[in-house]
Amino acid sequence: MKQEAVKDYFILNHQLRSTQDMSIFERISQKSVYEVIKIVAGIPVFFEEHMQRMRRSAALLKVSLPKSDEEVLEEIRLLLEKNRCENINVKLIRTRIGSEDYFLTYFIEAESLSRKEYARGIHVILYQGERNKPHLKTLGSSFRDRVESARARTGAYEALLVDDQGNITEGSRSNIFFLKDGLLFTPPARTVLLGVTRKHVMNLCKDMKLHVMEELLHRGEIRTVSGAFITGTTVDIAPIRSIDDYTISSTENLQIQKIVQLYSDEVNAYIEQHTFRTKS
Ligand SMILES: *Cc1c(COP(=O)(O)O)cnc(C)c1O
Repeated sequence: MKQEAVKDYFILNHQLRSTQDMSIFERISQKSVYEVIKIVAGIPVFFEEHMQRMRRSAALLKVSLPKSDEEVLEEIRLLLEKNRCENINVKLIRTRIGSEDYFLTYFIEAESLSRKEYARGIHVILYQGERNKPHLKTLGSSFRDRVESARARTGAYEALLVDDQGNITEGSRSNIFFLKDGLLFTPPARTVLLGVTRKHVMNLCKDMKLHVMEELLHRGEIRTVSGAFITGTTVDIAPIRSIDDYTISSTENLQIQKIVQLYSDEVNAYIEQHTFRTKS
């Protein structure tokens, strides 16, 4: 894989290493589990939930994850200190090279959208194909590479995956929500990577009395949708401007604006709570 660690240091099996030598990255196989966690003001947001999911992914791949949450948190803290930054993304990888187990903790650059792009909404495409094990957050596959090149070719920010029956199952690296007839729709848990952001959005919709239907949407129904957005750790919530050649006015949708606001409040509340805890 790419030598993608940024800043001066990363951690390999408890050891602080200089990013001058990232040759180990070339030996990481695609059959690895991973997590990406956003760090804001030095706080890894929804850390516990990400660790929980990483443990589930490891179990699905039948590999162990012999590290406590506290140990991982210590590594993140050490990297924050050594790399002298506090707003960044951290990536965790659990892999096997030969017969050895490896755990990597390192910072990656946020591939983030600009304010302008959020305000304008993103373009996405439909892409025929499914991930093999929806609940497994794993590094790669030839399928993932094909999706990436389709995205690059069309200039789309994301590809919505479509199964053999023509149903939209999930984003290739995000979760998808549609507004239709005053209800919010999202594909059912069994077909998707169970996103941390997805779960938070579903919960806050309950609070705003917006009913969330876990149902598949057929590609033929796209034109009945009045708003849509994707969710994910690094992107948060991104309203969709167009799906292929169908335009949607998601950015002007008041319900979507409300969801974006409430989600941002929730992230801020988490940061405040945990800042208090580290300082006390
Ligand atoms: C990581 C990921 C998501 C988003 O999950 P978050 O926990 O919200 O970051 C969605 N789909 C896939 C395939 C992913 O790998």
